[in-house]
Amino acid sequence: MQNYQNDGVILVIDDDQNNIRVIIDILKPAGLTIISARNGQMGIKRALFALPDLILLDIMMPQMDGFETCHLLKANPTTQAIPILFITALNDEENKVKGFEVGGVDYITKPFSAREMVARVKTHLNLKRKQDLLERLVAIDGLTEIPNRRQFDTVLEKEWKRAQQTQKPLALIMIDIDYFKQFNDGYGHPAGDECLRKVAQTLAKSVQRCSDFVGRYGGEEFVAILPETSTDLALKVAKRMQDNLADLRLHHVFSPIGDYVTLSCGVAALTPIPETYPQDLIKLADRALYQAKANGRNQIVISNPFNWP
Ligand code: GH3
Ligand code: MG
Ligand code: MG
Repeated sequence: MQNYQNDGVILVIDDDQNNIRVIIDILKPAGLTIISARNGQMGIKRALFALPDLILLDIMMPQMDGFETCHLLKANPTTQAIPILFITALNDEENKVKGFEVGGVDYITKPFSAREMVARVKTHLNLKRKQDLLERLVAIDGLTEIPNRRQFDTVLEKEWKRAQQTQKPLALIMIDIDYFKQFNDGYGHPAGDECLRKVAQTLAKSVQRCSDFVGRYGGEEFVAILPETSTDLALKVAKRMQDNLADLRLHHVFSPIGDYVTLSCGVAALTPIPETYPQDLIKLADRALYQAKANGRNQIVISNPFNWP
């Protein structure tokens, strides 16, 4: 991805070089960076490459018109969320309405009014930033700043579907802090919160592939989703999580099993076949975690799918 110093990058897609020039002259002094493309195909390519904050899209273009370009941009997950403003003629009601129907958020009219264009573009940039922030906030756990349970549900569903197609195993690690109630009771709730933050960050750092996911499942329980991963490999990840946490040496003098904070982990992996569901994977990992607790804690148990269900 290209990097721009400016925090507002506008992509103008217009076959008329004069229009592009006028738009640059208006938006540049407002502190915005303008990139441009002369037709729909090039516009889509630039959008995918540069990921602009907003797109100004001309309707009347030879070959691929603005509506079709918009349709393709909205159909692609990478460019889907970029707000698109159509460039229309002043009294062109038909096209203005159609622009909204295909996913545009607004339009600017020719001949251009500089103040109006700047106002509309800045308004939509602000709305987009707020929307991005909200989307991040609903997916992130406020205390630990790693993905929350809601995001876990979404990712598990998505990865399960992917594993159904690839027929590769999907692994899950359920992780629970040992004797955390005693930690809270002994050191106090604020120290407990700080401990949760450190554990979360350590777990997140312990996974290596970009498709790996670590989230807070709830309370002092965490979960990792590892696509295309066997139980053997997931076991190594769980071990790394324990080792990385051990390296931190978080004191827990109230723990009956040692001097430091420890983790119990349940590991499971499934290759989705008909009549199996993501909940089965959770159940298996959960049961393995329960076994790790029952066996004395600070250990990893691999689920035995032959005992299932
Ligand atoms: P085990 O070894 O069996 O897992 O025992 P445990 O004490 O860790 O488990 P238990 O479920 O009995 O207690 C969990 C504790 O986690 C109790 C609860 O107060 C604490 N906890 C859950 N969420 C938070 C939180 O957000 N902040 C803090 N400080 N504590 C939390
Ligand atoms: Mg616990
Ligand atoms: Mg628990």
